[in-house]
Amino acid sequence: MRHVKCKYCNKEINDKMDIHYREDDCEFFCSKECVVEDYIKEFGVVKVEAENVRKVDKFKLFKNGEIYHSNIEDDSCYKCENGTFMFSKMIKENDIDYEIYKCNKCGNEIIIKCD
Ligand SMILES: [Zn+2]
Ligand SMILES: [Zn+2]
Repeated sequence: MRHVKCKYCNKEINDKMDIHYREDDCEFFCSKECVVEDYIKEFGVVKVEAENVRKVDKFKLFKNGEIYHSNIEDDSCYKCENGTFMFSKMIKENDIDYEIYKCNKCGNEIIIKCD
């Protein structure tokens, strides 16, 4: 016989542990923390500071302490064949914020109102 081990930390499972079982891949865990840690590792979950949200998702912006979806609807450039709009910068006009996106192929710029 072989010991059953925790999928995440590899400890041998015993009756003193808070044993969890994952049905979809038939794996045992020694604790709920190991379940969570394994999930985080497997699915590439990363911690994000609110002000850096654009670094992980180019269509999210940080404004007044909160995170918003950009109003951009489609990131494919309508001027060239297969360009993609990439976030360039924020500007403010008459107290309204706008995002500037720039095509990575032809340089075409679009202005998206942040309301
Ligand atoms: Zn474990
Ligand atoms: Zn373009």
